[in-house]
Amino acid sequence: MTRKRKIPNYMRATPSISREREFELLNSFGGYKYHRTDLSEVIEADVSKQNFVYGPRGYYITTLHVCRKCGTEFRFTAEEQQVWFEEYGLSVCAFPDWCLTCRREIRQEKAKRKLYDEYLTDDDANLTAQQCRELADLIMNLFGPELNEKRRNRYNRMMNRISNVDDNRAS
Ligand SMILES: [Zn+2]
Repeated sequence: MTRKRKIPNYMRATPSISREREFELLNSFGGYKYHRTDLSEVIEADVSKQNFVYGPRGYYITTLHVCRKCGTEFRFTAEEQQVWFEEYGLSVCAFPDWCLTCRREIRQEKAKRKLYDEYLTDDDANLTAQQCRELADLIMNLFGPELNEKRRNRYNRMMNRISNVDDNRAS
């Protein structure tokens, strides 16, 4: 029987890297001090493409985070960092608070809100049946079953109009 021996953390950490290299990597950007890193995933940065005030990121090093929304552990990979800081031009101080799934959800939520806001400026009477359907879906998706009275009335109005259209088609 083989017993698993517990490996101390200092031995577990990327044995292929020397202490000097580790020091160099972690000191290439101050923000890495505050996060757990995976030193086996490193990309050298093109500092000329970065936005920074206090200093550039010399290297992109994968960092490990816990999502503030769903609590899942996620990786902010060196590749992602390269895109954020060299293509999107985000300040190199930035670290994500949410995992990729939650970030996508939040983006979709924002898009729905935007669409909903566009309906607010419209007069409901002019809406087509298809728009009524879309608006009803948006109200339900954004505000769930706990609608306030105004939204519930609007939702019911939309649903009634859709069913009227259906009735007219049926007869
Ligand atoms: Zn999440």
